[in-house]
Amino acid sequence: MLAWCGAENRKLLGKALLIFLLLALAGCQVFRRPVAGSAGIGDTYYPDLGNGGYDVEHYKIVLSVDPQRNEISGIASLEAQAIDRLSSFNLELQGLTIDDVQVNGQPARYSRQGSELMITPSRSLAALRPFVVEIAYHGSPGPGPSRAGVGRTGWFAAQDGTINVISEPDNASTWYPVNDHPRDKASYRFEITVPEPWMVAATGSLQQVVDLGAQNRYVWVMQAPMASYLASINVGQYTYEEEFAPGGIHIRNYFPPAYPAEHKENFGAMPEMLAYFSNLFGAYPFDTYGVVITADGPFCPSALEGQTLSIHCPDMLMATEYVIAHEIAHQWFGDSVSLENWGDLWLKEGLASYAGWLWDHRDEDLDTFTSFVNKRKNEFNLAAPIAQPNPEAMYGAEVYIGGAIFFHALRLQVGDTAFFAALRTYAERYQYSNASVDEFIQVVESASGQRLASFFNAWLTETKLPPLPGED
Ligand SMILES: [Zn+2]
Repeated sequence: MLAWCGAENRKLLGKALLIFLLLALAGCQVFRRPVAGSAGIGDTYYPDLGNGGYDVEHYKIVLSVDPQRNEISGIASLEAQAIDRLSSFNLELQGLTIDDVQVNGQPARYSRQGSELMITPSRSLAALRPFVVEIAYHGSPGPGPSRAGVGRTGWFAAQDGTINVISEPDNASTWYPVNDHPRDKASYRFEITVPEPWMVAATGSLQQVVDLGAQNRYVWVMQAPMASYLASINVGQYTYEEEFAPGGIHIRNYFPPAYPAEHKENFGAMPEMLAYFSNLFGAYPFDTYGVVITADGPFCPSALEGQTLSIHCPDMLMATEYVIAHEIAHQWFGDSVSLENWGDLWLKEGLASYAGWLWDHRDEDLDTFTSFVNKRKNEFNLAAPIAQPNPEAMYGAEVYIGGAIFFHALRLQVGDTAFFAALRTYAERYQYSNASVDEFIQVVESASGQRLASFFNAWLTETKLPPLPGED
């Protein structure tokens, strides 16, 4: 009877069909044999990094830290979502002794091989359902070797008790159990207890300092999804300074008391930089920003764009306005919009380096700035194509300087209006998420109305760069 099937009934029928399909899909997952989650997320450069089969949504890391002995103990709780029906899954954790592993409140078996931690829950995990992992652990953390040829990264403890965490790209697992890849971003809560007079500066917002007598518990919360290498806690004795940037962005800085005043002065430009980049790239993606100055560790001189808290070595080299601007620009490019694969490093480093140049040359006209870029280009030889750095020496000049030169070439190719519109669209569309190089190219093509595949290829996959557009 056709008359019976009125508009309302058709809607109902549609809904019933949808529910049936969803149930059938869930049924397929439920009745499928459980599988082991993979030991790598499938990164094009480092396929064994991260893990597959699930997605972490939240990390709660509760640690007592003894800075004098460099000893930690505590519990990491992970809220995750199974993608497949899982008989077991992997996390990464280096060194450190595991005291207990529970999944959904039940004791779980585990084994370890290198940095891989394989966990077998007492019952298989249903596909598309949340689960909770709690890992109690303790030990004396230290930095781990990096696949990318940047020496050791991760947890660093200085002689005087200062602790700094600089994990890029692959050593977050030196201090907490983690799915260590930017594709699996999550929110974080750090509850870090330290003896007085030590302080904790972490990525996120300081929610509470709980007075426990001779100790204090610092509660830091990062609500926006964060890539694991950007998570950082720093334990030190600091001079704390705060201010507000235009737009109400809360700036909080942690300077060691002996940090030279002439270095500190340059950080005074941060409110103006935040306003400048918000104007170019769109609204600043987080509520807070600031810096912590590290101990003079073996990782120096370097700086890392911790999400909402950049971590700068105490050298003058890491206190230049160029470096300060570079780390601020990463909050948009790298932190809020994260890489899909580590081999795309040029995308975040090229943009941040170009942003450093934009800041330094902000009072120049385009021709003068182009002469500067051309000069850099002429004195620069690429060891590898910009988009194909050596996986074992990834952090070379090609991704930084090469990347920055490329972004200027792209700007000249499509014009200022399309270029900056594309950057704003890219930052907004992929905010708090990940974007591939192809997705970036699509954004620029639609902003400019130009087909750019051959332009990108010529610049990114050759070691001999073409002339800047309009300069040949
Ligand atoms: Zn950078």
